[in-house]
Amino acid sequence: MNAGSGVPVPYIATWSSEKRHHESLVVHPVTGRLAYRDERPGDRDEHGVLWVRADCRPKRGRPQFGLVHPRRQRHAMRDLRCQVCDGPADVDGLGSLWLLRDERGVRADWPAWPEGMAATDPPLCLPCARVSVRLCPHLRGRYVAVRVRDAQVAGVYGGLYFPKSGGGRPRVAADVTVPYDDPNIHRILAAQQVMELRGCTFIDLPD
Ligand SMILES: [Zn+2]
Repeated sequence: MNAGSGVPVPYIATWSSEKRHHESLVVHPVTGRLAYRDERPGDRDEHGVLWVRADCRPKRGRPQFGLVHPRRQRHAMRDLRCQVCDGPADVDGLGSLWLLRDERGVRADWPAWPEGMAATDPPLCLPCARVSVRLCPHLRGRYVAVRVRDAQVAGVYGGLYFPKSGGGRPRVAADVTVPYDDPNIHRILAAQQVMELRGCTFIDLPD
């Protein structure tokens, strides 16, 4: 899909016709657990974590490049699909292909970066990786290509909710990355899947 300016619209991008629905969110007054008043099958993942409700109407309206669609991002992560074209991510003997903002030398506290990184940007196929490093503003000149041997579903990124005193709609305190074994996980409205990257090898992106 093309936005008309030569820039491909990533598979995981949200379109303006895809609204999010928070209207029926509630926080259980005793357990603090976040829920929908009218909860439906599919609102939670297999860890019991609540996910944001979003319409699925890709390619209708305008693309919103900065806003990731929760279902498509989750699908791309879990099935190792390319975040741009939804084809299979490129895989070779060293693992699947990921592009990361280069933080080598920046993280003095993390010499093994990106080993163990919690990633929210899904992997890519080779042709889309080549286009992305040319066109994506947040990657241009600052990316590193990495092969990942072991990418595991590890948690979610989303809003951390608290009950509103005196009742009413719960309020979001912050957007955070939370592993599935964190006690706060049931206060989160998940918007993106988080994968832990292990067995990472830096590579030069092949021409
Ligand atoms: Zn692709």
